[in-house]
Order: sequence, then C-alpha cells, then structure tokens
Amino acid sequence: MSRILPAGGVGTHVQSMKSAMLLCAALACSPLWAQAPVSPPTSTSSATAKSIVVTLLGTAGPSMNIERPESGTLIQAGTETLLIDCGRGVPEQLVKIGVRGVSKVFLTHLHSDHTEGLPILWMSGWNGRDGRLSVWGPGTGQDQPTGTVGLTQALATAFATNTHIRRDMVEKWPGEKIIIEGHDIDEGVVYDHNGVKVTAFRVAHEPVAPAYGYRVDYAGHSVVVSGDTRPSDNLVKFSKGVDVLIHEVFGAGAAGRGGAAPLPPPPGDGATAQRGGAPAAYHTSPEEAAGVFKRAAPRLALYSHIAPNPFDPTERTRAAGYDGPLQVGKDLMVITIGESIGVK
Ligand SMILES: [Zn+2]
Ligand SMILES: [Zn+2]
Repeated sequence: MSRILPAGGVGTHVQSMKSAMLLCAALACSPLWAQAPVSPPTSTSSATAKSIVVTLLGTAGPSMNIERPESGTLIQAGTETLLIDCGRGVPEQLVKIGVRGVSKVFLTHLHSDHTEGLPILWMSGWNGRDGRLSVWGPGTGQDQPTGTVGLTQALATAFATNTHIRRDMVEKWPGEKIIIEGHDIDEGVVYDHNGVKVTAFRVAHEPVAPAYGYRVDYAGHSVVVSGDTRPSDNLVKFSKGVDVLIHEVFGAGAAGRGGAAPLPPPPGDGATAQRGGAPAAYHTSPEEAAGVFKRAAPRLALYSHIAPNPFDPTERTRAAGYDGPLQVGKDLMVITIGESIGVK
C-alpha cells in the first residue's frame, strides 16, 4: 500500500490502494522509474518533472548478506541521475531496476560498505555512460590517508592492465568513458546543474573524518541523506525544512546511550581505540534518531543503512517520543517527493 503524505502532513493519511493509485496517477508517480527501464530518466508530465524520485538501492550496513545490498541511494530529479554511495550490490540493483549510465556518484565517506561497489559501477558502465565517471566525496584527514581523489586514482592504477587491453588493443573501447575522476569536497554546494543542487555538510562519524551527508534540492523539493553519523547538530541544521530525511540507524548496543545521554568523547583522546572497537559509538541509536527527527521535523523521516539488518527500529523510535511521519526503508523502496510524498 502506498502512503501519500500531503505537504505538512503527519503521515496518517493512509489511503486505500485504489485511491492511492488514483492520486499517484494524477501526480504521475506510478509506475515510477523503478518499473520502467529508463536511462537517462525522462519526464512525461509537469508533475513528474518537478518531483524528486528516490530509490533505496541498498539499506544494509557492512555485510556479506547477498540478499541485502549495502549503502546506495539513487536520486532522480529532472534530467539528473545521482547516486549517493555505492556499496556492495548497488550496481546490480541499478541493473535490476533498469537504470544504466550512472555517471555521477557522491560518497558520504570512505568506509567499504559505501564504496566497494564503485569499481563494478565504473568498469561495467564503460559503454553504458555518456562519458567519464565523476565521483565526489571526502578528502584526506587525520585518520584518513586516502581521500576521494586518492581512491579514484588508486582504482585507475589497479585496473590499468584491463583499461590498456580493452581501450588500446582488442576492444578499442572509447578512452574518455573509462576515465574516473575524483573530487575532494568541502562543506557547501558541490554540484549545481539543470536545477539540481547538491549540498554537502559535515556529519559526526569520527574517527572517519571528514564524513558528509548530502542535501539535494530540486524544484522546491528536497531530500537529505545522512550518511553514517552519530546524532549531528550540523545535520539538523542542514535538514531544516527538508521534505524527506533519510537517516542511518544502529540498533545493537546503543540503546542505553539514549537521546539525551552525553555522546562519546571526541577522537584524539584515550577513548579512540575503545570506540573503534564499538561501532555503535559512531552511529545513531533509534532513541537518538527520535531526537534528531523531532528537531529537524521533516515531512517524512525514513531509515536506511539499518544495522543489524533486518531490524525494525520503529518501536524504539516511538518510545523515545518521535510521533511524526516515519518509514523503515526497504531495498528498492521508491519515494516520490512532490506536492505529496508517495512511498511504495
Ligand atoms: Zn556504513
Ligand atoms: Zn561508516
């Protein structure tokens, strides 16, 4: 069943399937791009042209569960197709929904569950893209010897033999399309084309630093992807007024910290090593997420990057006092953000 959330709604407007489908049809949000192989995305009505369509490609944290891909969120807006993070299984999910030619990737940070699909996306897309693969993401930091530029340069080196054979000797595939181009970003607007603006903001995932969340704005609509983070004041600041806030959640071992409890001490002190052994310390519990959602007050709060997976954080989020619109993300869930918000 689809839930249709009107502007300013509180998420209780659960329609019947029939009325939801009618409303979706009126908004041209069904059958959505998830069912129709489209690349690049095309818009067939003014309603769709002004919507942001978000597809959760992978909602798990680090794992080798072949049924649950790691992090990847596809954002389609107007003529733009953007991928935020590319964990294991994400390129395969793009094939599954018929979206090819992705050439713009935004990495929240450089943990493997957000990056290890990148070489597959890059290599498999050689002749599916219009041009090179561009990757935006964090630069180097105190405990971050490689930034996004370093990562992409290392990939180019690692696959140099394959590139040489296929580009120069046998297949003669076009050289431009196998270029992978990295951009080390700072907080602020990192991409602004065709009416689609991507703003990076710092989040709190130390000792992984810098790490970013992203806000995408298009035609008066917006979505935020938290990346991996503890509860972050900066995320709340950049999420004010957002339509959909997609936030990570870590359900194991963090419940006792609660929303109001003090956060772990900052890195650089004697607790760093201990925190490194306790992943809960650099993620957000359901209780803490409730506090974030209450402060940011999005039209829809949505969990992705759910660990462990499967795990339903709803009860703990509600018990901690968040009573606004809430969804728990599932792989290939599609969220259409327009005058209303459709989830299916
Ligand atoms: Zn992660
Ligand atoms: Zn991480």
